[in-house]
Amino acid sequence: MGLFFTAEIRWLFGNDHTPEKVMDVWKWWELRRLFYNCVIFISLALSFVTYNLFLIGLYNEDFWYEPLTFMAAIFIGPVIWNLGYTLGPVVDALTFKIFRKWFGIGLFKSGLAFSIFLCFLPAILILFFKFTPAAHAENLNRVFDLMAKNKYNAALNLLRKEHPTLDAEGEYLEGYCLMRIHQMAEAKPHFQKSVQLGYTPYPGWTPTKNFLDRIVRFEHLRPVKQPNTCIDIYAANSNWTNPILKELPKFSERARMIFGTVPKITFYILAQRRDFSTFFSDMFEVSAEKRWWNNGTGVSNVVVFSELDKDGKWSYYPGTARSYGDVLHEYGHALCDTIYGDNYLDHVPEWLNEGMADAVARPYYDELFLATDRLVRNFAKKNKPPDYEGLCHRLYASPDIGYAFGRLMVENLLAGDVQRIGTIVSDSRQAQDFEKGIKSATGRSGKDAYDAVVKKYWKP
Ligand SMILES: [Zn+2]
Repeated sequence: MGLFFTAEIRWLFGNDHTPEKVMDVWKWWELRRLFYNCVIFISLALSFVTYNLFLIGLYNEDFWYEPLTFMAAIFIGPVIWNLGYTLGPVVDALTFKIFRKWFGIGLFKSGLAFSIFLCFLPAILILFFKFTPAAHAENLNRVFDLMAKNKYNAALNLLRKEHPTLDAEGEYLEGYCLMRIHQMAEAKPHFQKSVQLGYTPYPGWTPTKNFLDRIVRFEHLRPVKQPNTCIDIYAANSNWTNPILKELPKFSERARMIFGTVPKITFYILAQRRDFSTFFSDMFEVSAEKRWWNNGTGVSNVVVFSELDKDGKWSYYPGTARSYGDVLHEYGHALCDTIYGDNYLDHVPEWLNEGMADAVARPYYDELFLATDRLVRNFAKKNKPPDYEGLCHRLYASPDIGYAFGRLMVENLLAGDVQRIGTIVSDSRQAQDFEKGIKSATGRSGKDAYDAVVKKYWKP
C-alpha cells in the first residue's frame, strides 16, 4: 500500500523516534513546522478559490480583485497559524515533563485536521447555503402575484420581510420592483447581489445587465445634489434651475399644508434635453418625445424635469411664475401617486389627476386659470362639451380642453379648500376607489363637478 512518499508519511506521523528529553519533543515538532505551513497555505488557497467561485463567479471582475485581500491575509495569516502551531509543542512538552507520557503524534494529527477544517470552513458554508433549497419559495409566489397586479410597493414590503433569507431571484425581484417605482439608485445593489449569486433571469424577463446599464447611465447623468428637507433634489447649477431651487421651500410648505406629512420625493432637473431623453427612457421605459405636451413628469417617488423643451428652448423664462408652476404641478402628481401607492395611475380618473396637480400649483397659475376661462368659453361656442367618460380615460387625446375641464372640475370640488386634495387622496386610498373618495371628501361626485362646469359654459 502506498507507492509514493510512504517513507515520508511514516516519518511524519510515525513513532520511530520516542523522545527521551523535553528537548526531543520540541525538536520533533519543529521538524514538522514547514510541512504544516505548506498544508495550511495550500488549504487556504483552495478554500479561497472555491469560496469566491461560488460567491462571486469567475466572470466577475470582483473575483480578480479579491485576491488582493487574500494577499494581505498572507502576511498576517502565517503569524497567527504559527502561533497556533506552537501551542502543540508547548502542551506536548508540558505533559511529557509532568506525566512522562508523549502525545505528539495524536496531538499533531488532530491539530492538523482541525486546522485544515478551519481553512475550508468558509468554502463549506458557502456550498451549504448555495445548495440548500430556499425555504421561502412560497412567499416568492405571493411576490409574483402582487407584481402581476402592478403592486410593486406591496411586493417590496413582502420581499423586505424576507430579507435575511432572500436568494438570488429575490434580489432580482427587489431590484425590479424598485425600478418600477423609479428608485434606480436603490435598485442597483440588489441587481449586483443577484449577479454575484449567479442568477440569470428567465428568458423574456429583462436581463440584469440591461437594468445595470440603465442605472450606470442614470448615475452618469444624475446632476449635483442640493440639500432640502422633504425634497431630495438633483439639479444642474444653471440659470433656469437656480430660481427653482430658491423656491423649493415654498413647494415643501405647500405640500405639507395640503397633505399633512409628506413622503420624500426626489427631483431630477436636467439641463440638456438629450440627457433628459436618455434619463427618461432609462427610468420609465418610454420615450419622452411621446409625451410631447410637457417637459417633465411626476410619478411615484420622483419628479423628472427638463429645463428645455423638445426644440431645445426654454418653454418659460427662468424665474417666471409659470416655470415654478410647471415644476410644482409635477410635484403635485408625484405626491398624489406616492401617497396613494400601488395602482394610482390605473385608478385615478385622468381629469382628477391633472386637476389636482394644477390645484397644487395654483399659486403660480393665475394666468393659466384666466386663460382657461377664455379657452372653454371659445370652445363652447362651436363644440359640444367633452363627455365625462372621455375625461376619465381619454383626456390626453384632446389635452387642451381636457386639462381645462380637469382644472375647472377640481376647482369646483375644492370650493376654495385646497386641503381637500389631501382628503380625496387618502379617502380614495382607503376605498381603493376614487369616486368613493371624492364623495366622502367633498360630499359631491365627479359627475356633479362635471355638470357644474358644463352648466356654466353651455348655458341652455
Ligand atoms: Zn400633469
